[in-house]
Amino acid sequence: MNMEETRQLIDKLFEQADLEDAQLESLIDGRTDEAASYLFEKARVRRNENYGNKVFLRGLIEFTNYCRNNCYYCGIRCGNTGCERYRLSTQQIAQCADQGYELGFRTFVLQGGEDPYYTDEMIAGIVRQLKEAHPDCAVTLSIGERTKETYRLWYEAGADRYLLRHETADKAHYEKLHPASMSFENRMRCLYDLKEIGFQTGAGMMLESPFQTTANIVKDLRFMQDLKPEMIGIGPFIPHKDTPFRDHEAGSAKLTLFMLGILRLMFPEALIPATTALGTVDGRGREKGIEAGANVVMPNLSPAGVREKYLLYDGKICTGDEAAVCIDCMKRRIASVGCEAVVARGDVKGYAGRKLSGKAMTDTRQVIMP
Ligand code: SF4
Repeated sequence: MNMEETRQLIDKLFEQADLEDAQLESLIDGRTDEAASYLFEKARVRRNENYGNKVFLRGLIEFTNYCRNNCYYCGIRCGNTGCERYRLSTQQIAQCADQGYELGFRTFVLQGGEDPYYTDEMIAGIVRQLKEAHPDCAVTLSIGERTKETYRLWYEAGADRYLLRHETADKAHYEKLHPASMSFENRMRCLYDLKEIGFQTGAGMMLESPFQTTANIVKDLRFMQDLKPEMIGIGPFIPHKDTPFRDHEAGSAKLTLFMLGILRLMFPEALIPATTALGTVDGRGREKGIEAGANVVMPNLSPAGVREKYLLYDGKICTGDEAAVCIDCMKRRIASVGCEAVVARGDVKGYAGRKLSGKAMTDTRQVIMP
């Protein structure tokens, strides 16, 4: 495909927010630097129409690196006996949030492995405590697969958003990345439950994970068109030395950046982060991510002493600095690409507030599986 044809496809994607499968595949496979720069220009137009040049900050609190699962790509999988484990107390979590609030964060993301130590009630209590201390803030949970009842409990406790990357929307590919104890159908069920309950829901995939094909990536896009996530997080696969995928090659910043541009055109109103993984494979990855259409960054608020223990992959950046240092660094990076870090909850465009409990919360819509 020559540049003229590529430009036409990008223009079509810009206008229609969609392309046929074969067109998406050839756009992705035929990507060049010139195509990327044209795509990113269009992506910035769409982002700026919806969010201006504002980039939202999320304060990330990685509160436990225990996990009952054993995903083949993950450094904190339960099978990794070399991982030094930690848990933050409720009080430590509250302190991280208080400190983050002082620094200007208005969203806290509680992220962890699937750690049964924290009961459903404990998590609900932590959410309530954070919302009482900082009622103007949003609380995002990112703690894996649970029952619909548990998700509802946490929503009713005040959690606003939930991140659960689907990683791949292809069942056969999913089964190559996860042990038999994990189920593709359950992951999908969780995501549709979260949407139905009323969470602003985040999905997303790992790029260039082992065995991934371009057709898989197109399937990811189709799945997300059906789910309609408010947030989409993507990042390159990066191997961790103590996992079964240790010898697989890391993904490139280039593909992740290109897909950020495509996502912005297909999901113009989505909240799309420039992730730490992107900053790990490229020193300017997060700035480039913003230039490719991203509008969220997630600096780390976890205590500096535990950060280097939350290693999903090798070489992770920002594991040493204190939160205040991180946020200053991030603000400079955002400004360096002509954007502005804002103090705001940063809800998705058009967000109409929380669903009230009652009918809307218990409605059982038929779930359409992709
Ligand atoms: S990817 Fe998530 S669920 Fe899988 S082992 Fe890592 S922390 Fe656990």
